[in-house]
Amino acid sequence: MADDNNRECIGCGRCTRVCRFLNKYNINSDEYRHMPELAYSCYLCNECVKVCPVGIDGSKISKELRADFIDGGGRLKGAGYKLLLLEKEDYLFKNYKNASYKSVLFTGCNFPAYFPKTTQIIASRLMNEKGVGTVTDCCGKPVSELGMIDRGRGIIENLEKRLHDNGIEEIITLCPNCYYYLKDKLDVKVVMIYEKLKELKMKISPVNEDIDVFLPCPDKTDRQILKGIEGYAVKGKIKIIGGIQCCSAGGSASFKEPLITKSLLEDFSKVHKGKIYTYCATCSGMIAKSGTETEHILCRLFDFKEKPAEGIGSFLNKTACKYKKIR
Ligand code: SF4
Ligand code: SF4
Repeated sequence: MADDNNRECIGCGRCTRVCRFLNKYNINSDEYRHMPELAYSCYLCNECVKVCPVGIDGSKISKELRADFIDGGGRLKGAGYKLLLLEKEDYLFKNYKNASYKSVLFTGCNFPAYFPKTTQIIASRLMNEKGVGTVTDCCGKPVSELGMIDRGRGIIENLEKRLHDNGIEEIITLCPNCYYYLKDKLDVKVVMIYEKLKELKMKISPVNEDIDVFLPCPDKTDRQILKGIEGYAVKGKIKIIGGIQCCSAGGSASFKEPLITKSLLEDFSKVHKGKIYTYCATCSGMIAKSGTETEHILCRLFDFKEKPAEGIGSFLNKTACKYKKIR
C-alpha cells in the first residue's frame, strides 16, 4: 500500500529487523495497517520510520488503528485501560496550590512519581530564587495515544483554563513527553527546563565528565532537548546509546505485550555496560527496573542523588503530590 507520499513499501524488512513487536508477528509496518487486533501492541517509538526508505510510520498506523476502537461518545470500546483512564482523564493528583505565578514549573505526572525529592528541590529553588511557581498536572498524552483524540483535546482545553485562571503565561516542563506534546497545543509558552535554567542563570552543578545517554522517544528525531543539554548541563562528551529500541513504556503497549516488554528491558544490560544517563523520568524508571545503573541528568544538576522510585512507591509519590505545598 502507498504511504502519505504515495510511495509504496518495497518489502525491504528493515522495520521488522529494528522492531521487536513487528518481528514477533513477522510483519512489516505496511502489513501492520491490516491488523487492527494489534492496535495496542505498538510502543509508538518511531524506530521503524527512522529506517524505512519510503517513510512508512508504524506509530502513525497504530494511532489510526486505535481510533477505530473509539465509540461515538469518544470512549474506548471495551473495558481496557480503566486504571490509566481513571487516573489521567482528569488527573487525580493535580496540584495548583503553588500556581499563582506568571511562570510555573510544570512537573507532569511521572517526574514527581519517580523523583519526588528532586522535584521538591527544583520547585523550591525556582520559587525562592526566581519567583517561579509550580503546577502538578498531566498533559493528557497517554489518554490521547489510546485513540481518544477528542478526550485528549478536552484535557488540553481544561488545562488551558486552569492555567489562565491562575494567570500563568509560561510553563517549564520537566518531561520530554509533556514538552513535545504541549508546545504547539497550548496558548501559553512552553519551555523545557534546561533552556529556562540557562535563561534564569540558575546555579547548577553540570555534568563535567563524558557520559552515555539514552534518548527518550519524543526527542529521538529533533533532539531539541538534547541540544539544550549539550554544552550547558553536560560539559563532557555525550555518546548516544544505540541498539536499544525503546524503554518499553510508550503507547501503553506493555499491557498487551508483557514478553516483548521484558525482552526490551533486558536489552539495557545486554547491549550497554556501565551507567546510563537519561533526561526522561519514565526512561529512568524503566532502566532502573531492568537492573541497570542509571542517573537522571536533572538530579545531577541539582546535586541530589535520587534513584527512581519503584513499584507502588512511584504511585504513592504521585498521590502525595496532590497535597504538597512548595516551601
Ligand atoms: S513505532 Fe516502534 S513499536 Fe511501533 S511499529 Fe514502529 S518500531 Fe515497532
Ligand atoms: S522499512 Fe518501509 S519499505 Fe521496508 S518493509 Fe518496512 S515499511 Fe516496507
